[in-house]
Amino acid sequence: MSTNGSRCIYCNGPLGEPIFRDVRDRLRVSARTWTFRRCRVCGSAVLDPMPSLEELTAAYPETYAFDQAPQTGWLSHLLYTLETTLFYHPIYRHSARQTVKVTGLRDGWLLDIGGGTGHRTRFFRMLGFRCIVLDVDRRPLRIAQARFGLPAIQALSEEPPLVCGSLDLITFFYIVEHLPDPIRALQAAYHTLRPGGWVAIAVPLISGGHARWLGSRWGQITEAPRHVSLPTPEGMRWLLGRTGFRLQRWEAMHPLDEAGVLSLSLLPSASSPIACAAPERMLLRMLRLAGGLLTLALWPIALLLRVRFGPSLGIFFGRKAE
Ligand SMILES: [Zn+2]
Repeated sequence: MSTNGSRCIYCNGPLGEPIFRDVRDRLRVSARTWTFRRCRVCGSAVLDPMPSLEELTAAYPETYAFDQAPQTGWLSHLLYTLETTLFYHPIYRHSARQTVKVTGLRDGWLLDIGGGTGHRTRFFRMLGFRCIVLDVDRRPLRIAQARFGLPAIQALSEEPPLVCGSLDLITFFYIVEHLPDPIRALQAAYHTLRPGGWVAIAVPLISGGHARWLGSRWGQITEAPRHVSLPTPEGMRWLLGRTGFRLQRWEAMHPLDEAGVLSLSLLPSASSPIACAAPERMLLRMLRLAGGLLTLALWPIALLLRVRFGPSLGIFFGRKAE
């Protein structure tokens, strides 16, 4: 364990009372329990105490992304194709188009930080970007290179080994909530971007309808200690402001994305690290299929929660001064 001095990692404000105690890792990789405290200034939820670097490294299972394990057999291949075509591809396509619409960028150099297998990154390439995937883990990067032909760099998000001022756009899709020091990662992004460059950051939001409805059963909370924080929009405004960016706009992510998160909160064993780790095991494939069907059933509830309480997954667009 390490202490963050009970300060918020977004706004540096003091952390108040615990909002979620005795949180257990839904994947059961981490054996101990965790506590989230709410920031008194921006309302973000932050683990206190923070896991140590060793605890964090040990908390990631071998398969973390849905597309990391090889597909064997016609049935597992069919289910994988259905899942990517009906679920992931619409979400990825939407986030790439959303980014183009907000930033006005049509091409240029893009660095996808924590991009893993590059599955989402290639939807940006289809729109005209020249893309590089950066990840701390070498295993998914091999897939990014071999399957999608994407240039890949193994490095920490805080230390991208690229020339200062060289990039037009840096994306962080569901990465910031994993970082004990997101300020360092955003500072590094700021230096790597050209003047007028953009950053796009997708995060789960503690302020949204999911956390209100499910409380400590929400899958984004039981993702602790891999999730060390869950920001509010105000926390994201602080994070961008403290690292030199101006928040230009923020929007909700695709409603299907939110429905999927809701589904895996109610059926954690259908989540990628469990159900996608061994595609040859029929029971796991069936669990994944059940998670998919539950996602469809929960879509209206996800929409209702968003309308009533605000988005539970948001994307924030910040810009470096010209
Ligand atoms: Zn704060």
